[in-house]
Amino acid sequence: MNENGTFRADLHCHSTYSDGTFTPHELVKHALNSGLNGLAITDHDNVDAYGCAKPLADALGLMMITGVEFSAVHKGSSVHILGYGFKADSICIRELCSKHAERRLERNAAILHNLEKLGMPLLQEDLKEFSSNESTLGRPHIAQAMIKKGYVLTLQEAFKNYLGEGQAAFERGDSISVEETIQVIHKGGGVAVIAHPHLLKNQHLEHDLLEMPFDGIEAYYSSMPCYQHQRWIKIAKKKHWLITGGSDFHGAIKPAISLGCSWVPYETFCILSSL
Ligand code: AMP
Ligand code: ZN
Ligand code: FE
Ligand code: FE
Repeated sequence: MNENGTFRADLHCHSTYSDGTFTPHELVKHALNSGLNGLAITDHDNVDAYGCAKPLADALGLMMITGVEFSAVHKGSSVHILGYGFKADSICIRELCSKHAERRLERNAAILHNLEKLGMPLLQEDLKEFSSNESTLGRPHIAQAMIKKGYVLTLQEAFKNYLGEGQAAFERGDSISVEETIQVIHKGGGVAVIAHPHLLKNQHLEHDLLEMPFDGIEAYYSSMPCYQHQRWIKIAKKKHWLITGGSDFHGAIKPAISLGCSWVPYETFCILSSL
């Protein structure tokens, strides 16, 4: 329990193994300093932070469950899927991570090619200093390299003008489906949750996803407007799905979001930790 006697677990944050700026060890310490009792690190498309953070979390008394945020595509739209409670050594989860690593490598090369044509050359090498994990380099790292070279002033400018969906340098890369992603998470012994549902592109996408075999919805999320909380909680209850939540903390690249600003109570954390 924290000093207010309330158990709080943040189930969505990123480490230096994807596009966060805190190492897994720093995240564990920061979680405790923020008064959290439980944590899931949900790096994009890889689970490497868990093995690194878990021993320290155990030593310091922070409860941790496995987590991941997989990138998927449905009918041309991007969908983020959170996985929780899968076996840390699951082979099928690791295989999907490897598939994403290949996808990212090809896609980053295509984005860098587009940037070169636009007069903003960058090398793969230029991206490496922004992550401890070469296999999950992506657009936020490219944006940081663009800032360093002086091509843009901010991350937002890089996404708005060049890297965002539909912009001049954007590439999606190979698509991995939502169905395949859910299946792998289930096979790994975990649950699949729709991440930040209020950011879904349109009603058709929302409709299709709600027909799929998900187990939960992330109805508590840092920047989600209040009316959206209510709506997604209602949908989750109707479907008897889990209601999850987390901050989507990324450290310095998204300074407005603090770790623990969204969280789940003990009951939800227990369900996930007992899978
Ligand atoms: P990628 O996985 O390479 O496609 O990059 C996706 C990540 O980029 C997201 O998870 C966010 O962390 C970040 N991102 C997406 N859009 C923006 C934006 N407009 N401004 C800043 N960061 C963004
Ligand atoms: Zn991210
Ligand atoms: Fe996301
Ligand atoms: Fe995220």
